[in-house]
Amino acid sequence: MQQLLLIGAGHAHALVLEAFAQQPASDISITVVSDSPLAAYSGSIPAWLAGECALRDTQIDVAALSQRANARLILSPASSINTQARYVALANGLRVNFDVASFNIGSTLTPPKQLGESLPKLLAMRPLSSLHQRWQALQHDVSHLPSDGAQRVVGVGGGAAGCETLMSVLAQLRQQHPDINWQGHLLSAAKELLPDAGRLPRWLTKRALSKAGITVHCEQRGETLVEDGITTQDGKRIDANIVLWATGAVGHSWLAGTALPLDQHGFIRVDNTLEVTGQPNIFAAGDCAAFTPALPNAGVYAVRMGPHLADNLRRACHGEPLAPWQPPKRVLALIGTGGGRAIASRGAMGFSGRWVWQWKRRIDARFIARFNPPFEG
Ligand SMILES: Cc1cc2nc3c(=O)[nH]c(=O)nc-3n(C[C@H](O)[C@H](O)[C@H](O)COP(=O)(O)OP(=O)(O)OC[C@H]3O[C@@H](n4cnc5c(N)ncnc54)[C@H](O)[C@@H]3O)c2cc1C
Repeated sequence: MQQLLLIGAGHAHALVLEAFAQQPASDISITVVSDSPLAAYSGSIPAWLAGECALRDTQIDVAALSQRANARLILSPASSINTQARYVALANGLRVNFDVASFNIGSTLTPPKQLGESLPKLLAMRPLSSLHQRWQALQHDVSHLPSDGAQRVVGVGGGAAGCETLMSVLAQLRQQHPDINWQGHLLSAAKELLPDAGRLPRWLTKRALSKAGITVHCEQRGETLVEDGITTQDGKRIDANIVLWATGAVGHSWLAGTALPLDQHGFIRVDNTLEVTGQPNIFAAGDCAAFTPALPNAGVYAVRMGPHLADNLRRACHGEPLAPWQPPKRVLALIGTGGGRAIASRGAMGFSGRWVWQWKRRIDARFIARFNPPFEG
């Protein structure tokens, strides 16, 4: 019996579990280590932030999925790996042995420095798994604000997640507290918003931000939270009551204390088979994997890797040669802009409208339904 250990229940591992549920392997014993019985699905996050769906509609039921795949689920985060003795240590003190292991633990971010008192309220957008707790805490704080005042919400990070979440959060706050004057500002360290997107999707995003009353400040790298504001790397001060922090993704810090090879962002280096470089029978996929060439940190890549990872994990358990994975040349990105609208972006192509948002909602609902048993009652 081969011991297959799945560390983290991200998008790629959800597809691995689905593959083993559909095609069981009697000679492979699967263990899943996750910090939660429910895993966030990134595609549905903007709709939930905008108040258009319930939190439960954005979560994959890892416990039910593990059961279908006949996998043992242990609810405690992994805290280290011994690649020689072949075990993973968990926060609850358990050690789990493996023959073949796979990482799909997502990413986090570097939070801003904080200086002094009366700092703005901070909403860090990663890690995604605990975003709901931070957003609910912020909404609770906002419910105690006096009416008739003005509030400045400053988003930091000009990537798709930064633009999308600022528009979604503002849409929700404006709807919930129409008596407050909500002002939006967006800081981007780069010259342009969405540096990876084509010119048309970029223009559509700028237009949507402007329609949402958001002022964009390019080449401004937000750095430190200070009294009622935020300072940038070149010393400029911007007033802020609430700061949404959506800067670039980095790897989880505990990985640095392991023998795994990491890139400059703390992600695990993998070969084109998704096997960790120089570490036979250890794999990584999704945000936590550093593929060559580098891929954007988007859920769509974790999803695309999933079925291939499942196949290679099966091959590794059976001592068969691994197959290379070919990343897609272009992917479709659907960016929610609040108010029931979205932008579709694929390479140089871009279009926007209400129907794009409805299309995105249908794709996301279908994806979640694939993993979750229907609600009873
Ligand atoms: C606000 C926001 C919106 C986004 N919107 C989109 C979008 O619309 N479309 C898109 O394609 N991408 C989007 N992204 C990017 C997307 O979230 C990530 O690229 C995607 O979630 C990566 O998937 P993953 O499977 O690698 O990891 P994740 O989805 O982050 O899953 C990792 C899992 O591992 C678990 N875990 C973490 N550490 C441990 C540990 N030590 N032990 C055990 N388990 C652990 C976590 O709880 C989590 O369940 C968004 C990102 C943000 C921040």
